[in-house]
Amino acid sequence: MHSLASKFQALFGVEPEIVASAPGRVNLIGEHVDFLDGFVLPFAISDVTTVAIARNSTGVIRSASLQKEGVINTVDVARLSPKSGEAWTRYPIGVLWSLEINCGLDILIDGQVPLGAGLSSSAALECAMATAINELFDLKLSLSQLARAAQRAENIYVGMPCGIMDQSVSLLATQGNALLLDTRDLSTEQIPFDIAPLGLELLVIDTQVHHALVDGGYAERRASCEKAVADLGIASLRDISVAEFVSRKSELDEKTYIRAFHGVTEMQRVLDAVALLKAGDFVGFGEIVTAAHISLRDNYTVSCPELNLAADTANKFGALGARMIGGGFGGSAIALIKAKDSELIKSEISSAFMASKFKSPRFFSALPSSGASVIN
Ligand code: ADP
Ligand code: MG
Repeated sequence: MHSLASKFQALFGVEPEIVASAPGRVNLIGEHVDFLDGFVLPFAISDVTTVAIARNSTGVIRSASLQKEGVINTVDVARLSPKSGEAWTRYPIGVLWSLEINCGLDILIDGQVPLGAGLSSSAALECAMATAINELFDLKLSLSQLARAAQRAENIYVGMPCGIMDQSVSLLATQGNALLLDTRDLSTEQIPFDIAPLGLELLVIDTQVHHALVDGGYAERRASCEKAVADLGIASLRDISVAEFVSRKSELDEKTYIRAFHGVTEMQRVLDAVALLKAGDFVGFGEIVTAAHISLRDNYTVSCPELNLAADTANKFGALGARMIGGGFGGSAIALIKAKDSELIKSEISSAFMASKFKSPRFFSALPSSGASVIN
């Protein structure tokens, strides 16, 4: 029996009918372009969130998480309403709401994906739920339908306006591959990223800081990209090449140009990165990852001293490439490193953080793993 099944039995007094799990993710490249019809290239990590579920005949959803002291939360299945209930329960219950399940359930969650470290523990939880429910109720939904249902749960029930990248990769990932996702039409392609046999690994450096935005932040940056589209009279930044964009620089004000320049070049970097991975050129790939960091730092201006120090120190001590990931102004950075350098790079980053009087970073290592699955 899965260890979660015995904990489920101890908590609810019955055996679970289904156990399923889904992974967190890392996005290799394609940052701040999901709202521009751009490409993203995430992979699923080996850390998963597991859910165990059984139906009950009480009309009540009872949910508990080992990461939330295993306390049982209850809600009447007839009274589900977006943005209600204890915050963490909105993720699993939002999926039930999204899939229109109206049956009492007992749910126990165990997440190994670190919460709030930029590895998408939220999508892991939603996708484990969606996978379990699809099987338990024989819904016969496709993986992309499940991804959309999980995204709807997060957008509406939780109230977080995320894109569909995290849910797509948590469901569709295959071992040893990254997933190229075109956010314009949601088409996907598996891209070889089998780094373990090459002695490589992806190091995640969680700076554990979150700086407040001083100047209006993300909305303002997004508005700059939208202004560039309007001023250039194009449908999307996706539709203009880097060369043409540069040649039309005089049509844009400076701030609009430099922010949109990040978007246009980042989309091209994803395509270049994919071509290099297909050719097995991990050195060239690493250089593009670092180029993405420089653009996020200097053009899109969403980095911060901690993220820059993490990326720069990793590169200084042998990383093939490193960059900040996610929204910016804190959160995590990634570095593609030789596994043998892992201890050195981690200790150099820790020392550099200490010397700068930054908070101690946390480290995780990630290898491209498979997507959600039913365990039993
Ligand atoms: P990230 O997805 O980057 O980890 P988010 O803020 O999007 O960060 O999602 C984290 C939230 O998801 C947690 O604060 C919690 O509400 C919920 N969550 C994720 N995993 C679990 C878990 N194992 N148990 C309970 N809640 C979880
Ligand atoms: Mg999340």
